[in-house]
Amino acid sequence: MRPHATLDAAILRSNARAYGATGVPVAAVVKADGYGWGAGRLAFMLDDIVDSYFVADVDEFRRLRACTVLPIRLLGDVPDDALEEILRAGGIPNISTLEALRNVLRIQGTLRAPLIRLGTLRAAGWSTPNDSEWEAMQNALAGCSVGVELWTHVVSPDRVEATERDLLARKAALELRKVRVVSLDVSSTGALGMKAAQGMVRVGAGLFGARLGGAMQNRCAITYCAPIARRYRAGEMPRAGYGNTAIDTDISVVRAGYADGITQSAMGSGPIISVGMQYTTLRGWMLGPSYRFLDDESDLDALAAAWKLSPHELIVNLSRAALKVAG
Ligand SMILES: *Cc1c(COP(=O)(O)O)cnc(C)c1O
Repeated sequence: MRPHATLDAAILRSNARAYGATGVPVAAVVKADGYGWGAGRLAFMLDDIVDSYFVADVDEFRRLRACTVLPIRLLGDVPDDALEEILRAGGIPNISTLEALRNVLRIQGTLRAPLIRLGTLRAAGWSTPNDSEWEAMQNALAGCSVGVELWTHVVSPDRVEATERDLLARKAALELRKVRVVSLDVSSTGALGMKAAQGMVRVGAGLFGARLGGAMQNRCAITYCAPIARRYRAGEMPRAGYGNTAIDTDISVVRAGYADGITQSAMGSGPIISVGMQYTTLRGWMLGPSYRFLDDESDLDALAAAWKLSPHELIVNLSRAALKVAG
């Protein structure tokens, strides 16, 4: 008896198609091992629909490379000794230091139409050059054949305009130096449709059904069920789980806890009274063999909010109860 989290391939695929219907190529973001669900597994489900993938780092690149022939972009920095491997194996590395750029320029002559990514987001925690490095990097790139994909990310709704301005200013400065800017991209699940940057959509959480405030009519691809272990009539047990709160209603105990992704922050939301490592107590006499926390009718963002999590955290957490397929 264990909780059961499943990912519906048909819904995942129709969500990916919905993003594609906006008219731009879809890049599936499968970092953090596919938001916990297995990057290779997601690639298996999405490979004929999406245009490319994003991973976080070299380790993820290598694992995903074995699962797809599509281009794989990297979000984070690449160690110097892996740059050539990435470029030769259909990877598009993100470059955020002058030193890394110099390493690309050193080997560019031996590569066919190399592409790199440069981020224009000026915020720590993102692999982007700082202001002084930008100056040096755009000078180093002047007139060379390396194609540049410029990217940014909307990290706050009230910074949309400033983010876009930074992106376009960097583009103009690069083009002034005859650098080949091949595309701009900014859109993720929550920031579809920034005017200047329609190179592609980089979508992660949206594939699972999160909307993050956007208008996409996607559906929840995750089902999460927990077997009901016991039920108690009101008064049969004076308390539920931890705590000292007297409980005067029927109670159902389900076999799923924080070890399975039901975070303690979910306590108090919906019927959830308490969350332990392996068991959660629910207010009410739940019928049937199991209780469904989430299915294809659910609003993933609403459940995340009720549990005081971001949709991304909810998706990652619930993957803990998914049966992982090796590879
Ligand atoms: C994770 C990530 C994405 C995907 O974001 P979602 O909200 O999951 O769609 C897109 N772009 C960048 C730079 C990211 O780090």
